[in-house]
Amino acid sequence: MIILKSTIELNNWFIENLNELVENVGFVPTMGALHMGHASLIEKASSECQIVVVSILVNPTQFNEKADLQSYPRNFDNDVIVAEKAGGTILFTPTPKDIYGGEPYAEPVDYGPITSAFEGLSRQGHFDGVVSVVDKLFISVKPNRAYFGSKDLQQVAVVERMSNERHPKIKIVSCDLIRDENGLALSSRNIRLSYAGIILAQNISKELQTIAERVKEGGDMIESVEIAKKKLKNLEGLELEYISGVNYKTFSISTENRGWSHIIVAARVEGVRLIDNIEL
Ligand code: AMP
Repeated sequence: MIILKSTIELNNWFIENLNELVENVGFVPTMGALHMGHASLIEKASSECQIVVVSILVNPTQFNEKADLQSYPRNFDNDVIVAEKAGGTILFTPTPKDIYGGEPYAEPVDYGPITSAFEGLSRQGHFDGVVSVVDKLFISVKPNRAYFGSKDLQQVAVVERMSNERHPKIKIVSCDLIRDENGLALSSRNIRLSYAGIILAQNISKELQTIAERVKEGGDMIESVEIAKKKLKNLEGLELEYISGVNYKTFSISTENRGWSHIIVAARVEGVRLIDNIEL
């Protein structure tokens, strides 16, 4: 695997190495501290593309809390091992200033509920930053296919919308959510949880699983979500932000369960913000 640290190095590598035989460049954007969730995206990209660019950039414009940005885990040596083992061809590690062409700045975006509801509401400006950085990374990497995890379900909807408008030739590939053996959705931030925090956080996926099972057995969706909401709210040390049924394409807020495709949830444990979802 080749490590390229700037957009100039990436451009030069493409000029020297890309030819008509390369028809499929895959791209996996990340913020580093790679785990098996990231690895699954790289593996999928590597099974479908001739070249796989993995980027690592802790993008300041998508953080709505300074403390979260400052404490965001960084583990470059391990990232190199994980990305290479999973099949990455290029590890692209630009600085924010390089990608933004100056001080990082995100233009506001309004795609309706997909940018304003749930994550957009809880994390003001977050999707402005996501749209901005993914757009700029797409311009630098010029991929044919870009891989995103359905762990960040709303992000997939936002990126698809942005890409349809600004990069219609790039295929957005949504990949499965990867969990640990106890069901906890893998996240770079999990490293900030204590053992007790991890045990508490496991309740999030357990409740999602229970809702999905109830619904499968013919139970009422709204009632099932309400039961889970009550349980999560009663757990000491877990602060529930939201739990709701949504349609993964629209994210429009609806109290009717017709058209729900997923249940989404966000909660904090030990100050660490966790999100998860399950398909119905
Ligand atoms: P991040 O480094 O958190 O910005 O994530 C980079 C990419 O990896 C995003 O597309 C995420 O959705 C994806 N990702 C993160 N965690 C997981 C997971 N547990 N399962 C699948 N994809 C994930």
